[in-house]
Amino acid sequence: MSENEHELDLPRFSDLPLRAELQREVEELGYENPSPIQAQSIGPLVEGRDLLGQAATGTGKTAAFALPILERLAAQRPERSRGDSPFGLVLTPTRELALQVSEAVTRYGRGVGARVVTVYGGAPVGPQWKALQQGVDVVVATPGRAIDLMNRGSLRLDALETVVLDEADEMLDMGFVEDIETLLDATPDTRQAVLFSATMPRRIETLAQKYLREPVTVRIRREAVPEGEAPKVRQTAYLVPRSHTTAALGRVLEAERPTAAIVFCRTRLDVDAVTETLTARGLRAEALHGGMDQEHRTRVVERVRSGRTELLVATDVAARGLDIDLLTHVVNHDVPQSSEAYVHRIGRVGRAGREGVAITLVPPSKVHAMRGVERLTGQPIEFAPVPTAADLRAARLARTAAVLRERLVADLRDEEPGSPADADGVRAMLDVLAAEFDGVDVAAAAVRLLQEATGAPNDDEDIPVVALPRAGERREPRSRGGAAGTRPPKAGTTRLFVNAGRASGVRPQDIVGALANESSLSGRDIGAIQIHERHALVEIPEHAADDVLRSLRGATTLKGRRANVRRDRGFAGAGAGRGRRD
Ligand code: AMP
Repeated sequence: MSENEHELDLPRFSDLPLRAELQREVEELGYENPSPIQAQSIGPLVEGRDLLGQAATGTGKTAAFALPILERLAAQRPERSRGDSPFGLVLTPTRELALQVSEAVTRYGRGVGARVVTVYGGAPVGPQWKALQQGVDVVVATPGRAIDLMNRGSLRLDALETVVLDEADEMLDMGFVEDIETLLDATPDTRQAVLFSATMPRRIETLAQKYLREPVTVRIRREAVPEGEAPKVRQTAYLVPRSHTTAALGRVLEAERPTAAIVFCRTRLDVDAVTETLTARGLRAEALHGGMDQEHRTRVVERVRSGRTELLVATDVAARGLDIDLLTHVVNHDVPQSSEAYVHRIGRVGRAGREGVAITLVPPSKVHAMRGVERLTGQPIEFAPVPTAADLRAARLARTAAVLRERLVADLRDEEPGSPADADGVRAMLDVLAAEFDGVDVAAAAVRLLQEATGAPNDDEDIPVVALPRAGERREPRSRGGAAGTRPPKAGTTRLFVNAGRASGVRPQDIVGALANESSLSGRDIGAIQIHERHALVEIPEHAADDVLRSLRGATTLKGRRANVRRDRGFAGAGAGRGRRD
């Protein structure tokens, strides 16, 4: 088959200058091949070059910078003892990203025994301070807290070997530029500097010119899809927290019932987990990945072609070169690494004038990526709610009713005059039961038995409903404090009241940092901020307000002090017009 040939021209991890311990972790994670950003960055970074990379989340950029740090760290041991200043510092805009990155670095670094510490604002500083004292190889930090710990003498940067700015554009958007420069200025001139950013505005270029030395530049380019070539496909996305993706996929596919679908997953491990979940739901799913021998793969593909298997669960690489004509659905368990990859995937359906369906499970952090796909293809992607357990029960009952109706009609038609109407004795048995119980109760019990026998899944698990940020929702320019008036919040936004202001040294970026760190908001969601003497007002999307207040539980930490956060009574809903107290 052609899949193997296609694999030959892909880069391999074994060609990259990474030691066996790192190769093993990557293999265990189920990564089959390095992503483009990894293939282009890892070599130069291991050599110690500076790097300027344009790549968004989802391209594998974390491993692209983390693996080289770990390789260089391992190469410098044992000369470098753990008591020294950390080897690497990774700066990220938010707590969530810091935690994600540090989890990835820890995972990739298991084999080399790297000690990773995460520090971020909005949490007590004590434990983070202590963790740093105990010796650390890689610190992953949000800028504000990194400065704080540096000023306390706990984060030492004088012997740092590598500094990474991850999502640099987002950090600048959040007002961290001064903090970043302070931190970079505190690192030795000899250190390696790496800057990743999804976009390359002028400010990023300026920062790069100031701090990177003869950087290698890597750009994960978008290849334009020629107009008119994007296939006509009904595209639906389901917004769901990442932790519930697989469960949600099971529900969606049970509701959709595709005749023949490819379900794309990022890694082999995902392929196996998804196949298991779908099979448990009574769907006929089979895994296809590079870990299977050729003969096995051929058999699986054959079963899909012949219609015996309805769902083929595969990694991109395993599905390369596969051409299955009768595919009705392309399903993305994960948002693909680029808009082009998405378009390539969905190009497998909607051919020859037939209608195709593309389904994508989208975690909140990837909504913008789907908007990018819309821009690229010029076709809308509809966001639909994940079917609830009740929806699925209703759908299952509707299917049972349809099957029963069909059977009843067929039985009536087949009853020939004069033939015994009850050759198998079922009616006679039911007559006996009907004398004892209500006829409908008997039928209900029969249907329940049937459902149990066909393994109706248990949908008790709650899949949280996530609010969709509206397209084009952008932050307004923030007021830098001062005499901002008390105009009502912009339509669709609500205003939060924070009981700390200029008198406590609070700056707009502190508020952005605290909200983005402690809630699901990203810097981009946060609107106008007004800093007053003893309070501040911040606009956030109305649909996110309850969630944000819930996660803050009424308070946050600003400039090291507790500050209360609540809806601004000045304009909130029914209370409009009532004065604010402060
Ligand atoms: P990132 O862009 O760093 O946020 O990575 C996005 C996702 O891709 C993460 O879930 C990684 O685990 C995964 N990933 C990174 N590199 C690879 C690879 N070479 N093959 C498959 N998945 C990968």
